[in-house]
Amino acid sequence: MPNKRVSQQTYKRRRMVALAVIILLLIIIICLISSACSNKSSNTVKGKSTISTTPASSATQPFSSVSTATSSASQKTSSTVTTTAISGTLPDDGSNVQSIELSFNSVTLSIGESQMPIVTMGPDTAEDKSEKWSSSDASIASVDDVGNITGVKAGTCYITVASVNNPRVYAEVKVTVTDSASTSSNTSLSNTAATNSGGVTTIQGIVIANKSYPLPQGYDPGLDATTKSQFDALSAAAAAEGLNIYLASGYRSYSTQERIYNNYVANYGQESADTFSARPGYSEHQTGLAIDLNSIDDSFADTPEYTWLVKHAHEYGFIIRYPADKVSITGYKYEPWHIRYLGVDTATAVYKSGKCLEEYLGINSQYAN
Ligand SMILES: [Zn+2]
Repeated sequence: MPNKRVSQQTYKRRRMVALAVIILLLIIIICLISSACSNKSSNTVKGKSTISTTPASSATQPFSSVSTATSSASQKTSSTVTTTAISGTLPDDGSNVQSIELSFNSVTLSIGESQMPIVTMGPDTAEDKSEKWSSSDASIASVDDVGNITGVKAGTCYITVASVNNPRVYAEVKVTVTDSASTSSNTSLSNTAATNSGGVTTIQGIVIANKSYPLPQGYDPGLDATTKSQFDALSAAAAAEGLNIYLASGYRSYSTQERIYNNYVANYGQESADTFSARPGYSEHQTGLAIDLNSIDDSFADTPEYTWLVKHAHEYGFIIRYPADKVSITGYKYEPWHIRYLGVDTATAVYKSGKCLEEYLGINSQYAN
């Protein structure tokens, strides 16, 4: 009897053990299946957002993704914030836009705050580099014609810039708008290049005013004190060599520029006026960092003063802002008399680069309309 009871108990125990092993195996199998499924779904998400659906022709290098600063942290972030170029429709003979790069691909804004990424379209030889901006949800963040992104309400959306010439080439900025009342420290760019404070755009520490980057009407700094003292030093150095370089026009307010521009438009028509006179808000003279010299006309280029200026302006922190060979880039005709203060280091770097300021900073100068 005791033996029989033991064997019955043993039998029961074995059944229990067998059952436990089966349950354990089932759990392991379920786990394996579910993890395989989740891998598969994350692969589809990734494949979808990297947009390599069209096989690029061998002549075109698909522009590799520019991921955000947090790319290592999460695949999802980097794959959704991807700069991609697809080609196929337009020939890659150098005349069409084939790539777009942005100075940042994600940004956090508070409500009412604005940021503008710098756009670089490639190749350099592309004829039409105009941009078309759009927002996936304008109730969260809006964007204007030149790419100024403004937080509207808390949430996340995407701002897209496409090439007008080749609309299949585009880039995106992931925008997160936070609810907090605006404090400028809230702003974070993953790759800081351009900042916009109160409507004034600063790129690499340089205040910029051109046809793409206007200044607000109320921006009224007067002639910058350092600009003035450096100009005085320049003028004195030229005088020591018997040359006369004098300040003819320095700071101009929005309203002064408005009067000048409107006068030119009345006399020459807008199309012509736009080639030599800035619209109000777009003049570099409103920055307080630009000076027009001497006769303010083309004859200045033929004077020994100008010859000296070309050689020495950078030593005092100035560049000749609108060179003869950069008209299509600066958006202004040759102005030998117009100099811009950048500080000695930057002016020397720009001078040695042989580039105009737009090329040096990688920005455009085009009116939005
Ligand atoms: Zn000027």
